[in-house]
This record gives sequence, C-alpha cells and structure tokens, in this order.
Amino acid sequence: KKRNRYSAQVYIDGVLAADRVILSQAITLVESALPSDQMLAEEVMSAILPRTGDSIRIGITGVPGVGKSTFIERFGQLVIEEGLKLAVLAIDPSSQSGKGSILGDKTRMEVLSMDKRAYIRPSPSGSTLGGVSARTREAMLLCEAAGFDVIFIETVGVGQSEIAVKGMVDFFLLLMLAGAGDELQGIKKGIIEMCDALIINKADGENKDAAKRAKREYANALHLFPSKENSWLPQVMTCSGLEGDGLESIWEMIQSYKNKMIANGYFEANRADQRVNWMHDHIGYLLESSFYQNEVIDKNIKTAMAEIKSGNVSAIKKARELVQVFMNQIQPN
Ligand code: GDP
Repeated sequence: KKRNRYSAQVYIDGVLAADRVILSQAITLVESALPSDQMLAEEVMSAILPRTGDSIRIGITGVPGVGKSTFIERFGQLVIEEGLKLAVLAIDPSSQSGKGSILGDKTRMEVLSMDKRAYIRPSPSGSTLGGVSARTREAMLLCEAAGFDVIFIETVGVGQSEIAVKGMVDFFLLLMLAGAGDELQGIKKGIIEMCDALIINKADGENKDAAKRAKREYANALHLFPSKENSWLPQVMTCSGLEGDGLESIWEMIQSYKNKMIANGYFEANRADQRVNWMHDHIGYLLESSFYQNEVIDKNIKTAMAEIKSGNVSAIKKARELVQVFMNQIQPN
C-alpha cells in the first residue's frame, strides 16, 4: 500500500494543529510494522507525549448485537453537545484484512461520522492482539494531542481484547441485555469484575421491566464481588441507546467517577501503571516484529514449519532453536 510519508515534524505539527487528515496519516504511521516507519513513529510519539493525557478514556464493550454502535452514536452526540470533542477508536481483533469487518461498515454511527466534533477510526486487524492494542493506545494518544477531550475505545468480542482495553482506559463500561443469561451473552465473570459500570441496554418498549429486573439482579450480584482497590462500586444502570433514555445518567456517573478518582489519587496512579505496562507491551511487540522480519529467521522458519507439520520435530524445541538463531543474528559485532 503506497502512501505519503512525511518528516516527523509534519506529523507533529499536523496532529497538534488538529489536522484530521494528518491525524489519520499519523495513526497509519504508528500502525505500520516497517522498522523505518516505527522509528519515525517513535519520534512523533515522543514529541506529542507532553500534549497528551487531558482526556477521559472510556472503554465500551459487549457482544455483537448488544447495541454498541447505536449506543455510541447517541451517547457520542450527548458528549459533543456538551462542547467536547470525541474520538471513537474501535478494535476488532477477529477481523482479518481483506475479509471486511463490521467496524469498517460505513453505515455505523452515521450522524457522528458526519460531525466535525467527532472522529471515528477503526483499528486495523492484526496478527497479534498485543500489536493491535498497543497501536490503539498510540492512536488514542495522537487523538489526545489533536485536542480530543473524550476517547471511546470500542471492542467487539468478549475476552482478551477487553483485558487489553482495560489496560488503557480510565473507565470501562460493559453493555448487556436483559433476559439472556451471562453464558448466552458469552460474558465471563472476569469481564464483569473488570468493569466500572454495567449497562443493561435496550431498556425500552416491552423490554423495560425485564431490564429493571436484570438491573436489580446484577446490582445484588456485584455486591458479592471483592471490592476494588479504588473503592468504586461498579454501577448498574439501564439505558436505551436507541431512544436515548438513561444516557445522561451514564455521563454523570462517569464524571463523578473521574472526580472521585482524581481526588483519591487513583486516576493518576492507574495511568502511571498503564504507562509501565505500555512499555512492557511495546518490548514484546518490538521483539516479535523484529524476530519475524529477520531475514535468516524468515528462511529458517519455513523449514521449521514443514518439519513440525510432519510431526517429527518438537514445536518447543524448534521455537528455542529459532530464538537462539535470532539472538546470534543480533549480537553486536
Ligand atoms: P452492535 O453489534 O453491538 O454494534 O449492535 P448495533 O448497535 O448494531 O445494534 C444491533 C441491533 O439492535 C440493531 O438492529 C439495532 O437497531 C438494535 N438496537 C440497538 N440499540 C437498541 C436499543 O436501545 N433498543 C432497541 N430496542 N434496539 C436496539
């Protein structure tokens, strides 16, 4: 894929000036696996870093069909009507490039995507979740440097991607449906434990009563979970992303969470921990990408794969040998 490549300063100036075209190109740059792009991306990231951190970062998750895009479309409008600029980043680790993705569907969030106060960007599919989520973190920081006050990070799926997102947001929101059991919704207890708010969505029409019941049940169940280190008790609320009911209360809850966590010191402490994790993630990413881009490894790995497929060679033995070959390659001398 051909694209323009500028000097670091062009990206930096463009992002800081909130130029949306440059912002998009800067995100594409940080997503690139090319070593030369990575060096450039590092320079851009270092320069913009002092201008990041001024947003509230909100993770939004829930199984497909729970109403995430409808919710974000409506909730996002509420946010921008508060005079805030909103960026929506969506991670869809299940999608493969070329196969298309529900997130790539232009009809999602029709109103928001037309609004200048909002910026919507799907994260690319990637071979490793670690890579995808690390790139999302950098995209988030670029958006902050471009002046976005609120960042939504949407994940599709119920598992690993949530853990990755939890590691980069201030507030984590899980959308659920009344009536379907947790198992049916594919929601693991671990995910419920991670969230700061549990929202029973589609609480409208005939669904209203069931939603209220589900709210009570979940509120009771959450009391049984161990309390969090930040002493926040996850809130359970109902809403209708379609009709807009309950969205104000959700926004107020997030504001109140932010104020409390700033006051008790958790907000910054959590972000500091997240930055440390970011380094660890990036170490893993750099090691892995330089491993797979190494020419000698590239030659050796094909033979190794064939041998392993034949069943005569141990996979872990081959893995160790390849890592050894790689380490010999990168010895400085
Ligand atoms: P996603 O897959 O989680 O992004 O879900 P969508 O936002 O695409 O919604 C899935 C389906 O549920 C669509 O047919 C929506 O019209 C419908 N839907 C979404 N939100 C609501 C809601 O609040 N109430 C009702 N009744 N239907 C909704």
